[in-house]
Amino acid sequence: MQRYTHSGIVPASGAVSTVLCGLTAAVVGGVAYAFLAYWLSWGLVRMILMVVYGLGVGLAIGVAANKGKIRSPLFNTVVALVCVAIGLWVYWGAYDVARNGMQVAGRAWTPQGLSAHAADLFENGSFSLKGGGRGKLDEWPLVIGWFLEGICVTGLVVSMSRQDAARPFCETCQQWTSDTGGLIFVAADGQEPAWQEVLGGDLTAIAVFAPTDPIASPHVRLDLASCPACQHSNFVTLSSVTIKRDSKGKEKKSERALIRNGAITDPEAAFLRQFAKQLHGEEAPDEAGNEDEDWDDVTGDEPENKATDQRNEA
Ligand SMILES: [Zn+2]
Repeated sequence: MQRYTHSGIVPASGAVSTVLCGLTAAVVGGVAYAFLAYWLSWGLVRMILMVVYGLGVGLAIGVAANKGKIRSPLFNTVVALVCVAIGLWVYWGAYDVARNGMQVAGRAWTPQGLSAHAADLFENGSFSLKGGGRGKLDEWPLVIGWFLEGICVTGLVVSMSRQDAARPFCETCQQWTSDTGGLIFVAADGQEPAWQEVLGGDLTAIAVFAPTDPIASPHVRLDLASCPACQHSNFVTLSSVTIKRDSKGKEKKSERALIRNGAITDPEAAFLRQFAKQLHGEEAPDEAGNEDEDWDDVTGDEPENKATDQRNEA
């Protein structure tokens, strides 16, 4: 199965709007982040502010890139890194102004102003981890804090900006595909020999597996991304999913992709949709569950579902 790859096209208008959106979020957000972080000078609040800032800037870039039809995740990353650098610079200068008043505004963003301010914070301490201004973080622990803050903001902005960047794009219709996540769930762990046939291009081989539901473990989930405007752009993603429960009963889901966005033909996509209807019915799984006895039998093979099935029978 041929895998989808982006054309790498970056439309000029999309590029401009993405950069503008990213920079606006980074600069306006950077000033807000600095003043709020100074006023609410407590480690936990600062951490929340940092996460909100990182997510916000990253989201602004990601959404603008999607609207601007940018088919290059690398472009998103570059814009994200530029926005992080400029945003943190604005944030640092604004923090100086928040702390020392408008009279420092003239030099707050210059290299001299920034280093003098950093040296001052190094000596006199910045925010407090305990709250209430006690036990301010200073000297090398503070530097480590700055370093971690930089890494976290960078990581958040870059990952959010790329969140949706890999979604297949229909070059014919100039549209993003829309994803039907969880079109088919089958009882398998992804190691079975039949998957080699599926990945080799024979999609009908998937029919050897019994249908199951999203809470069964392990299962293989099939997602289908299709162009909303034409029939010709169809991409299939197969993920092997294992759900483990820890001692407290908390679920931990791990996913492994067997193939990501494998290109399939129109008849193959039609087959998958038809097959999905046959397997899971046209209604939502919870509504269909009671009407169709066979389904309960199949899913009943999974240990997790036994308890529910027994309850249903009783
Ligand atoms: Zn299309």
